[in-house]
Parts: sequence; C-alpha cells; structure tokens
Amino acid sequence: MPLKDWGFPVGRFFLGAGPCSAENEQQVMDTARALACAEISFFRAGIWKPRTRPGHFEGVGEMGLSWLDRVKKELGLAVGVEVATPEHLECCFRHEVDLVWVGARTTPNPFAVQALADALKGTNMPVLIKNPMSPDLELWMGAVERFHRAGLRKVGAIHRGFTSSEPEEYRFPPQWKWPIELRRQWPGIPLICDPSHIAGKRSLLCSVAQKALDLLFDGIMIEVHVSPEDALSDSGQQMTPSDFVELARSLTPKREESTEIIQRQLNELREDIDGLDRKLLRLLEKRMAVVKQMAQLKKRGNVSAFQPHRWEEIVENRLAEAKALGLSSHCVFDLFQTIHEEAIEHQEKVFMEDDSAQD
Ligand code: PEP
Ligand code: MN
Repeated sequence: MPLKDWGFPVGRFFLGAGPCSAENEQQVMDTARALACAEISFFRAGIWKPRTRPGHFEGVGEMGLSWLDRVKKELGLAVGVEVATPEHLECCFRHEVDLVWVGARTTPNPFAVQALADALKGTNMPVLIKNPMSPDLELWMGAVERFHRAGLRKVGAIHRGFTSSEPEEYRFPPQWKWPIELRRQWPGIPLICDPSHIAGKRSLLCSVAQKALDLLFDGIMIEVHVSPEDALSDSGQQMTPSDFVELARSLTPKREESTEIIQRQLNELREDIDGLDRKLLRLLEKRMAVVKQMAQLKKRGNVSAFQPHRWEEIVENRLAEAKALGLSSHCVFDLFQTIHEEAIEHQEKVFMEDDSAQD
C-alpha cells in the first residue's frame, strides 16, 4: 500500500523524526514539543536499543512508552518504535504505538522476523523493515515477504546503510544500488532513508537525505535530540530540532514524471544511451574474444588464468585514465573487477575444453 494511504500526515514527503533513544520523560517531551510544529509524519524513539557490544545504554524499556503516550495525547503526534520480539509488540499494542520498525540487527534473523510477523497477524500495524547490516538483499526481501504473508499491507523498507570493512566517510556507507534493486524486485514498496545511521555525523545528513529524494525515496527517518551532545546513544549523528526544521525545509523531493517537452528530449537522449550501450556490449564481446585467444596460449604454456602483475597494471592504468576522464575511481574499479572476473571465467572454460575433440 502506498505510504500516502497509511493514515499518517504526509507533507512534501513522509518524515519520521525523534531521538535515537528515549532517555527520560523531559528529553522525550522537549524534543517532541520542538517537533510538533514541523509537520512530521511520526515521532520516533528507541525504547529497546540493540547494541552491537554489551555495556552501552540499552534503552529504558516499557517505561519509555508511557512518555510516548503523552506525546500522542498532548501533542497529537503519531509515534513509532523499534521492535525485536513479540514481547516488545505486546507492549506496543498496550500503548497504542502507531508504527513499528525492525532494526538492522533483527532483519537478518528469520526466526526473529517470523515471530514478529506471527505476532502481528490480524492487525493492520504499519511496519518498516531496515536493511540487514550487510548487503544481503535476499534477507531484506525475505523479511518484507514474511510480513506480507502474515497479511500486513502497510509494509515498507528503511535504507540505513551497510557495514564496511574499509575506512569510509560514512558510518554505514549507503551503497544505493541495493535499495534500488529492492525496489526493482518489489515495485511500489515504500522506501524510507535513514540518513542518521548512514552518515554517522551531522555534516553529511543533508546530502544523504537529498540524495535519497533524488533517487525517488518516499521519505526520511532522522534522529533528532533536544541536546545531541548529551545523548546516551549516537550522539554524533543526532541533530537539534531547529537544525532539523531547516534541513527538512531545504530538501527538495523529485518527481518521476516530467512535462511533455522534457519527456521528448529525454527520449531522444535515451536513444543515444541505448546506442552507446549496444556499442559497449559489442566491445565487451570483442574483449572476451581476445581473452579466449590468450586462454589458448596460456593453456599451451600451462600458465595460470589469473596474472597478479598484469591485474595490478590494469588497475593502475585504468584508474589513471578514469581520473583523466573525470570518472569516479570506485565506479571504474568495480567495472574492471567485474570484467576481470568474467575474463577469468571465460579462460577457465577454455582450459576445461577437451582439445582432443577438435583433432
Ligand atoms: C535506530 O534507528 O536507532 C537503530 C538502532 O538503527 P539500526 O537498526 O539501523 O542500527
Ligand atoms: Mn541510533
């Protein structure tokens, strides 16, 4: 079901905001009060915090839901929390929570997800499913599917970035291709971006949020704390309510459709792109034909398909050329890594061929 029909107020786009964690009644009420005039769709707050390592603030538990009762009653805001177990859901039903989300550490566990889906059967609870920590699309899709099969129709996905083994600008690099692929495989699924966990720092929040809207995400869920420096969790990425209001105002949602004139011009350019792509594919075919000739020689000399020095030379040279052409090095590196893998596969096929059959 499209987000606009979920029953939440939606202004220019769906907007969830609130603290990473509910810490005390004052902090929740002060933050919520400051957000009440910001046209948000729902007020978020973590009640049970799934920490990667023990010994950190793990949330205040059910007591926090009574503070959210006040947010609902006194300020008229819808409220959303993260749930990981059927017991959490029981508490949410008791307190008439309006929306729940499944966290990145719960989504990859099919037992936990199924238990939540079973507990929600027969309700019409809106559920947002965060991507798993690692980019495993099957697990993300699987979780969406489990809630769908339980009969829930207000089911959406939250993109919160993925863990990376490399030092990165982002806390959890976005790797946008995965939410794009999720939407390709599950057309129409409401897609929300969580810039806070992707960015990990305030300075990147705006660019991540705008990029999500550029990619036609339906909304944003962002961490807002009345006093971010004092936050008990995710202090560096939470923003003040006034910075949030400014950020929300500065964001520009994009449309998929365009006017007739723009559409006509786009179509012409798309024809150019189609032609260029055909050329690219033919070039790739030619490149693989040369690779196969090389494979015959390597086979005769009992030489390995993979040649580390040659690969090093290709990477260095192609990245230098990419730079000169104004192409991003990560794009060109990924591209040649894929081509190289395919080339090795083609060579190994040649190695396996039975030569005697041709004699
Ligand atoms: C959160 O939204 O506060 C949270 C814990 O997020 P994630 O599951 O994405 O780490
Ligand atoms: Mn957080």
